[in-house]
Amino acid sequence: MREEQTLENRLSMLYSLQLVDLNLDELQEMKGNLPQIVSELSESIKGKLARKKELEDISKKSAVTRNQADEEILSLKEKIEKYKSQQFQVKTNKQYDALAREIDFSQEKIARLQKEMETLEGKGAIAREDIEKLLPEIETEQTELAERKKELAAVNKEHEDEEMKYQHQREKLLSRISKSDYQMYSKIRNAKEGKAVVPVQRNSCGGCYNRVTPQRVLELRKNSTLITCERCGRILISDSIVEIVKNSL
Ligand SMILES: [Zn+2]
Repeated sequence: MREEQTLENRLSMLYSLQLVDLNLDELQEMKGNLPQIVSELSESIKGKLARKKELEDISKKSAVTRNQADEEILSLKEKIEKYKSQQFQVKTNKQYDALAREIDFSQEKIARLQKEMETLEGKGAIAREDIEKLLPEIETEQTELAERKKELAAVNKEHEDEEMKYQHQREKLLSRISKSDYQMYSKIRNAKEGKAVVPVQRNSCGGCYNRVTPQRVLELRKNSTLITCERCGRILISDSIVEIVKNSL
């Protein structure tokens, strides 16, 4: 008798836990994929802001380097003018040729710097274009994130009390359910779409609707051994357990 009572208790508690968990599942479903969307949007915005910062640095750096090249070209041009006026004053061919070489050298350097400037300008322009494209994307995502956060907060607030009540019930049950029973329950629940404990209804499993033989239904009513569905492996419970749990809620 005592053992029977024990199994009855165990099954009652497991079925109570099942009902609480189904309620919690339902609440989770109402939130839908909002929590996921919120976290994905936050990540995406973070990445885009980092990219924007990177592009701004490229744009700034190329502008600074470009200005430096610009100044260098100006001073080279001044030098060339100076060399040219000196060429009128020199006395020997050797001196004249030396100045001509300096002029050539400076002109080559100017050409090189101008090419560099072009490249930098191109780089800066591309970076600025990319920033322009990025800005509306960031703005759209930020708007959406704000909306989704508001939605999620509303859903959370609406069901806050309910969720707390179920969580509390869950904790209370867990303190009374043995570790091995809970492990068995969790394993089946994870494998079987959230349903681990099901009543037998009209001689069939409440989970997969497979027929349960009259012999097993009879066994089940005795509450003397733990019986699982032969097809889906879910824990089966009799009407009496369903009644006990119903009355305890
Ligand atoms: Zn089944």
